Amino acid sequence: MTTKLLIATKNHGKLEELRRIFGDLGLELVSADELDLPDVDETGDTFEANAILKAKAQAEASGLMTIADDSGLEVDALDGAPGVISARYAGGGGSEANVRKLLAALADVPDERRTARFRCVLALADPRGALGERVELIEGRCEGRITREPRGTGGFGYDPVFLPEGEDGTMGEISAAAKDAISHRGRACAAMRERLAAYLGARR
Ligand code: IMP
Repeated sequence: MTTKLLIATKNHGKLEELRRIFGDLGLELVSADELDLPDVDETGDTFEANAILKAKAQAEASGLMTIADDSGLEVDALDGAPGVISARYAGGGGSEANVRKLLAALADVPDERRTARFRCVLALADPRGALGERVELIEGRCEGRITREPRGTGGFGYDPVFLPEGEDGTMGEISAAAKDAISHRGRACAAMRERLAAYLGARR
């Protein structure tokens, strides 16, 4: 029987991305939507806490091996804000409002102090398997700087104002494949793929 892996997200894009990356591991990926699982509130104050919270709750609810994620943007000059509230930084006005608020907060910050990073934390839970109560955490980071104005229409969220280290274009200007190769999420998923392959080998 094929081993099922629950991806604790309602975001279709994320599910498809993980289906591509984990495609050859011989797993059947199912989403929280497909199983009609209730939402888990992200009440933690770190990415790690939120990823663990979601992975544990949905693994428990489904009885399946589960991966959950949390991600966001940390800006050094803002002491790590917007951090875990990246999605609702401007209070619900969506990405454009978030970007406007960020640029306004950094208006007086010179270029050399506009350093920032995207972080993505993935949590793997498997309460009925070898992990027991333990949750495996994997992190991916992408270092860069916040530009003075949005550039590019690709990606989502803060992509148009994030200039990755070593790139000439913002995350909103580079291709999706180029973003996947350097992004926090791409890196975390690639590392999780390796971890999962080893874990499945030991579990079967
Ligand atoms: P979540 O992981 O879906 O909760 O995303 C949190 C928020 O962080 C998103 O709504 C975006 O505002 C921001 N974020 C996370 N990853 C990215 C990215 O790759 N590009 C731009 N913004 C991102």
